[in-house]
Amino acid sequence: MLMTTGASNQFSEDTDRVLNPELWRLLNFVGMDRTMVRGEGVWLYDEQGRAFLDCCAQYGAVALGHGHPAVTEAIQRALRDREPAMVQPYAAVHAVALAERLVELAPPGLAHCVFTTSGAETVEAAIKLVRARHADDPRRQLVVSTQGAYHGKTLGALALSDRHRHTIPGVTAIPGIAYVPFGDADALAALFVERTGEVAAVIVEPIQGEAGVVIPPAGYLRRIRELCSHHGAALILDEIQTGLGRTGRLFRCQAEDVAPDVLLLSKALGGGVFPLGACLVSREIWSARFALSHSSTFANNNFACAVGRAVLDELITGELCQAAAERGAQLLAGLSALRQRYPRVVADVRGAGLLTALELHPIGPDAGYFLSYLQQQGLLAYGLASFLGERESVLVLPTLGNANVLRICPPLTINEGELARALASLNLALSLVDSGATDALVRGIARLGHGRRPRYRAPLVVPRPPPSPRRASRPAYAFIMHYTAPEDILHNDPALRRLSAGELEDYSAFIANAPPGVVVAQGPIVSAADASAEGWLISLGMLPQEMLRRGRAWVGGEIRRAVDLAGELGARVVGLGAYTTIFSRRGADVVGRGPHVTTGSSLTAGMAVAAIERVCEQRGLAVRDARVGVVGARGSVGSLCAKLLARRRPSRLHLIGHHTSPAREILRLRDELAAINPDGGDRIDVGFELDRLSQCDIILSATSSTRAVLDDAPIQSGAIVCDIARPYDADRLRARGDVTVIDGGLVNLPDPRFRFGLGNVQGLPAGVQLACLSETILLALAGEARDFGIGDDVPLADVDRVMQLAELHGFTLAEPLAAVGPLRRALAT
Ligand code: PLP
Repeated sequence: MLMTTGASNQFSEDTDRVLNPELWRLLNFVGMDRTMVRGEGVWLYDEQGRAFLDCCAQYGAVALGHGHPAVTEAIQRALRDREPAMVQPYAAVHAVALAERLVELAPPGLAHCVFTTSGAETVEAAIKLVRARHADDPRRQLVVSTQGAYHGKTLGALALSDRHRHTIPGVTAIPGIAYVPFGDADALAALFVERTGEVAAVIVEPIQGEAGVVIPPAGYLRRIRELCSHHGAALILDEIQTGLGRTGRLFRCQAEDVAPDVLLLSKALGGGVFPLGACLVSREIWSARFALSHSSTFANNNFACAVGRAVLDELITGELCQAAAERGAQLLAGLSALRQRYPRVVADVRGAGLLTALELHPIGPDAGYFLSYLQQQGLLAYGLASFLGERESVLVLPTLGNANVLRICPPLTINEGELARALASLNLALSLVDSGATDALVRGIARLGHGRRPRYRAPLVVPRPPPSPRRASRPAYAFIMHYTAPEDILHNDPALRRLSAGELEDYSAFIANAPPGVVVAQGPIVSAADASAEGWLISLGMLPQEMLRRGRAWVGGEIRRAVDLAGELGARVVGLGAYTTIFSRRGADVVGRGPHVTTGSSLTAGMAVAAIERVCEQRGLAVRDARVGVVGARGSVGSLCAKLLARRRPSRLHLIGHHTSPAREILRLRDELAAINPDGGDRIDVGFELDRLSQCDIILSATSSTRAVLDDAPIQSGAIVCDIARPYDADRLRARGDVTVIDGGLVNLPDPRFRFGLGNVQGLPAGVQLACLSETILLALAGEARDFGIGDDVPLADVDRVMQLAELHGFTLAEPLAAVGPLRRALAT
């Protein structure tokens, strides 16, 4: 039978690991779970010895490339000379010398230095420092940051980073922070007036790296420098990403000849081997109180500082800033050419030196559900990065705060030919997106043909995409669906038809690991009663067989996640498609989580019976004179259909249940039907065998079987079969010329052009939709504020209510009924 429990041996390939298993799973999902074992210059090598061109350079930390000779020599020399690495509180030779050298090279006015062991810790030191300066003035503790900023992930640094993109809801970062728009000096000026006497400091990145390499207008830094000086606030420049040659100068602030009060450096300073940061501070900001109270066990690491000195020497004597400027110009020119070539794919390119970004246009559902899904989960650029790694051996990464931006920031030592190669690979990836060749992208991202995928014990979690998907601005619905058959995958991703059968199977296993997510964000639909609603299709990437394999606990959990996602998006009504009804116990497991829930069974049953009546009418047959069989009569749709048909008093009504369901349930249904139609009670019989269908003129089938149960049933010539099930109960039967098979439960929406992506869910024509999805839309349009179709006993009054609403809002029975099934098949091939 349908329900299975999650047997533990199903998960034998689970790669749960000690080191951040969630991240590893996510990397596995996007095809980036490689272990790198060797690095040389701009090349990284994995365990199989495959070489990758490293254009991420660990977010810019590997500025000199991997294993640069100057870095290696600094470490070897220190080891050979038996220098101590850690001597606190005594002085470390290289720490003293590096501090002096940094102050010498930095913009004027910076006089003191604190060493740290990460970018975030450097930011923390700066916050403490600027607040310590006004320790006696509790009013003057405000630190002003900018929208879109990224300063790290410790609680202080996080508080300065863009709240919407980087904080974890419910986790409180430090108080006393205000934000102004980045690049808008007037906004800062206004804030200084509004909060006179409160601002201790302003912290700014000269270019917002993680926001997507956002470059402020010329003159911005200079203006904020003036404003800070005027109002007596410290200016902290976070050059953790932009500093030390990355933008083609030693420090980015030199481009505007601006000197901060506090300058933050890290990343490149450690030579790509040590975690090292430096907070350079002017004499005026420095305070004895801070100096004598701030410390860290690992600060002033002598080896790390020896490497830092070598890095500075290389940047200056090796003319690496100049090299970064030249290669940066080559890179930006190449990216600009790509933007011109693929204007539909590339929205923008920008950069300074070797800190560059390529921004993709958001992708809509007509590009296929696969890319649309990636887009909606904030994984589109990860998908491309994965393709570039897998297929092209070129490593690039998205930025943390803008999921549609690919950042290209190779070591400053990259040469012209290597950069040209990276550009050629980008060209290929963009050309595939442009031409809709999702099959080629998927082969790379999902590593089709590389053996079976792990089936994870715990579901995959993708952090909420920054920026979050569009939220509802009018009454909204969400519909939770899954693929009911492999051909469903192809309807909305026609390019995947080019995959071989084996590849398609691999792809199914791949998307089964995907967390529930939006595949279509649908604009408004306007009803005949002039109501409007918008909505989302949320997909569980699982075929029925996979759901059965994973069992109720696992699938039920994913359905709950999907319902919660719908609630977060602002959906008032959530519809449950196909097996999600069954795996949520007909919705009972997901009610009360925020949105109202519907299984869509009322409109499905109402429209299926209306469809039968219409065909009967065309044939001159009255339901009252017909012998009717309902297969799957214990299901929610089946039992509603049976009740509706009982009202029409057929000459015989056979209720056929599944042989594993308790007999008492179907007997109870018979009693209910007898109550609906008291004088026809003796014309109703119940059973579990399909043999009875041989006597039926009309058969209505709504099972939740994964196979086409009607194909082998004895169905008499001339019978009318209404197949409501997904996957279908009738498949080969449709080829029989002497039997009429119609797809039940299809509805014309009030807008004949309305469709959900290219293939409109299951390949249905535009304007036609599954009744369960239609009911979801209808309830949102009508503003019905309750659940529908939940549990085993759905009242017939619900069907009447929903059919009334359908009429009011212009939802009608779909035509041509019989053509829809073959049409779907035609579209699938
Ligand atoms: N500040 C900026 C501008 C950064 O780009 C980063 C990291 O990307 C940080 C701070 C935080 O550095 P870390 O990751 O070393 O804590």
